[in-house]
Amino acid sequence: MFFVKENGRTIPVADKVFALSGGAKAAIAKKGKDAVVNATVGALLDDNGDLVVMSSVTEAIRSLTPADYAEYAPITGTPAFKEAVVKALFGNYGPSGHVRLCVTPGGTGSLTSVIQNYSNYGDSVLTHDWCWANYKNIAISQGRKFKTFRFFNEDGVFDAEDLEKQLGELAAVQDQVVLLINTPAHNPTGYSLSLDDWDKMIAVLNRATCNVVLFLDIAYIDYAGEEDEVRAFIPKLDGLKDHVLTIFGYSASKTLTAYGMRLGAIVCMSKNEEVVEEFRRAAEYAARSTWSNCNRSAMVTMGKIYSDPELRAKVDEERKIYRDMLLERGRIFEKTLNDNGVKCVPFTAGFFVTIACDNPDEIGKKLEEQDIFCLALAKGIRVSIASVSKEKCVKCAEAIAALLK
Ligand code: PLP
Repeated sequence: MFFVKENGRTIPVADKVFALSGGAKAAIAKKGKDAVVNATVGALLDDNGDLVVMSSVTEAIRSLTPADYAEYAPITGTPAFKEAVVKALFGNYGPSGHVRLCVTPGGTGSLTSVIQNYSNYGDSVLTHDWCWANYKNIAISQGRKFKTFRFFNEDGVFDAEDLEKQLGELAAVQDQVVLLINTPAHNPTGYSLSLDDWDKMIAVLNRATCNVVLFLDIAYIDYAGEEDEVRAFIPKLDGLKDHVLTIFGYSASKTLTAYGMRLGAIVCMSKNEEVVEEFRRAAEYAARSTWSNCNRSAMVTMGKIYSDPELRAKVDEERKIYRDMLLERGRIFEKTLNDNGVKCVPFTAGFFVTIACDNPDEIGKKLEEQDIFCLALAKGIRVSIASVSKEKCVKCAEAIAALLK
């Protein structure tokens, strides 16, 4: 006898990434760390394969009081946390409009909230064809449909034309479209929209014949490159017309390497104060009716870091060391692939690199036979360079190139 209602979802026996990572861990237990490449995990590991935990963040956590853990937090977040998110998100490109935000359990919660509040049941949510698989799950779980545009054209260039086409199709049947864009350091490709891509996308959105809620998933922004450079797109958002609303999905999981603390935020920016107030009301309601309020101790930690210049400088410096480590892994991985005659899907920076291929499951299995664990996607192989050393990046890139030749 079965009781679960699938409700349009395809619920797997096990989460693919966690199952694969379990396989890699079993191989490590049998053959040792050095013999296995576990490039499945979406978390930053150092060259020894240990989770990166920033000591400066730990220092902030240790200074918390029992009440910081025990007390309920305000539904939209503590005031210090909210100030911290604005600083962390906008950096030197301070918001040019009104801003309201609501704490969420990780960046994941911000996706749930935006879909719940800005699309109707049965509407399609639009995103790029290469995307974090959970986008679809979150949309379908809330009774929405899922539509994609081609992220890159045949020349490997951001496909603004296909975005316009797919958006136009939805505009014919919906009055509003939630468009999920993951940049910079997109999962799974590592691509960051260039400023030229941004101009093209803004022109497309301004021509749209329906409202567009542009949801910018910036989960990986702090690992995408130099702080100002990766935020240089923010002033461009001022060029969006009134029928386009900008909402950001922020994740402290990555920024503070604190995945387990489940801290993130949904942030709305508009020149129109009524629009951000409407957002606040809806975000608060969505929070209360799904996860209620979030982890207070995580909020207090982030508030402390961003209100103490000395502590913040320590966190920034420490993160830079790890960011540089990650950027170097990316360069080495891409170069090794290229030297072996294989190109990846356009890559800029971040936790992942993806190699397109016709038979990802088969390639994934063959890699596993060599104790190299990578995620087989529908159209390629995703390698988490965040979780393997430079040496293992080289080994993995060479093995993939050999199999693809
Ligand atoms: N967005 C993308 C593209 C991700 O890959 C992830 C996590 O892997 C998230 C958002 C959300 O992460 P979290 O909920 O841990 O903040």
